[in-house]
Amino acid sequence: MAILVTGGAGYIGSHTCVELLNQNYDVVVIDNLCNSSAEALRRVQELTGKALSFYEGDVRDEALLTKIFEGNAIDCVIHFAGLKAVGESVFQPWRYYDNNLNATLVLTKVMERFGVKKLIFSSSATVYTADNEMPLKETSRTGGCTNPYGWTKYMTEQILSGLCTADKTWGAVLLRYFNPIGAHASGRIGEDPRGIPNNLMPFIAQVAVGRREKLSVFGNDYDTHDGTGVRDYIHVVDLAKGHVAAVRYAAAHTGCEAFNLGTGIGYSVLDIVSTFQKVNGIPVPYEITARRPGDIAVCYASPDKSREVLGWQAEKTLEDMCRDTWNWQKHNPQGYGE
Ligand code: NAD
Ligand code: UDP
Repeated sequence: MAILVTGGAGYIGSHTCVELLNQNYDVVVIDNLCNSSAEALRRVQELTGKALSFYEGDVRDEALLTKIFEGNAIDCVIHFAGLKAVGESVFQPWRYYDNNLNATLVLTKVMERFGVKKLIFSSSATVYTADNEMPLKETSRTGGCTNPYGWTKYMTEQILSGLCTADKTWGAVLLRYFNPIGAHASGRIGEDPRGIPNNLMPFIAQVAVGRREKLSVFGNDYDTHDGTGVRDYIHVVDLAKGHVAAVRYAAAHTGCEAFNLGTGIGYSVLDIVSTFQKVNGIPVPYEITARRPGDIAVCYASPDKSREVLGWQAEKTLEDMCRDTWNWQKHNPQGYGE
């Protein structure tokens, strides 16, 4: 069975390619490398001892997609390709809507033409409104996004839902990720953000390796056990395995279904800092600063539906996430740049 992985050279995509190859799927990747490196795909093949096919190009390029579908008997598509920096999306809304929405529109148009109607989409917990009760269930309220990036996820969910309503032979799985962190246990692939990291764990890793002086903890006056923000961090390898489960589910189902991919456990910023320091024996200097605009106090998933319907649940601990992040960072201090 052949899976087309858009954005397969990226952080989550590369880890998912490893899990797919380990499960003996044929893997075809399209990525324009706008936020990634071909070196990640070289290492995926080295880790698994298996080859994949790589097409460098843009998902919005209909001619290239046509060529890929003509040349490969694709059964299912996992669609990671997209721009993902929340702050940047506020200043470059057109670029985000163009890239993220048009990629999905062109992709599904070509899929339809080739009769491939199984799609797994990288959605996000950001589609949930801020006023929901925790834990977030797939039936919790969505919409009310606070930035263009979030809207692209929300709108793509609407597009795929509409496709499945109009044509009952379509199947779309919307995977709502919580906070992916960690790296493959080998330390060969991991997250390699360009510029100053926006997210907590890559920032901590760069402080630990000496690339940044200290972490800013954005607020310690939230209504949480230590006053810092609480999130549901999930190991990227668990997340990748969730995609394999979704491919199996999609093969047997039509219609549009959303699933949370999280652990169901919330950890605070200071929980992450102290666990990282403890398991790796390395200091992470930090200072408390003002809250970051747009942040909420607490966000964590109910993973029940994924466990019951997909037969998937996260297995790795916060210690694993911190250890594997550091193992990747210390062996690749400049990411794939070295
Ligand atoms: P990433 O930036 O590492 O991977 C995305 C990949 O898509 C990159 O390799 C990039 O080069 C490629 N890409 C972007 N636009 C493209 C286009 N038009 N054509 C071809 N390739 C293109 O990001 P990631 O963390 O691996 O995230 C993967 C997906 O998951 C994204 O859609 C992201 O929005 C979503 N997501 C990520 C998180 C997170 O915290 N990492 C959380 C929720 C959802
Ligand atoms: N955070 C922080 N310092 C940073 C980056 C993030 O204190 O440099 C906090 C942030 O306020 C939130 C948590 O860490 O409470 C997770 O933030 P991240 O940006 O990683 O994910 P998201 O906001 O998307 O949940």
